[in-house]
Amino acid sequence: MRLVRPHLLLLLLAACAMPKAGAAPVAPVERAWAVPTLELYQAWWTKTEECSGLRGDMSQVTFYAVDSPSGAISLGTEVAHGWWMRKGNRIYLPANALGEEWLVRHEMLHALLQRGSHPPEKFVKACHLASLKTWRDSSLTADPLNPVGR
Ligand SMILES: [Zn+2]
Repeated sequence: MRLVRPHLLLLLLAACAMPKAGAAPVAPVERAWAVPTLELYQAWWTKTEECSGLRGDMSQVTFYAVDSPSGAISLGTEVAHGWWMRKGNRIYLPANALGEEWLVRHEMLHALLQRGSHPPEKFVKACHLASLKTWRDSSLTADPLNPVGR
């Protein structure tokens, strides 16, 4: 099941990662709490392993819900719908988007890659998880909002 909701924050980065542990903020400014992973997340993790050809242990990742009714999570000076942080292998998602498959799996793919960039061969061509646009249109070979995969 995929929860569909309007995406009003089109100017935001859809989802991203904070790879530089040294300079990175510690956590989002909004209130956040750790959430247990359910069978659904294990299924999504496995799907993401399969599309990417990568293997990883999801129990090493901690998922956090963030109190963000607007869907925007601030990390330092940046705002996105979701975040993966290398330090602590943490994923932050808006509490009301925990069931949004593309967003959750986008952050899972960062965790599997252990990198904050978006190589198009994984994020677009293999898994279609770069953005909502690439999720909805699997024929895309580049993310229109991030064509070089920064
Ligand atoms: Zn990202």
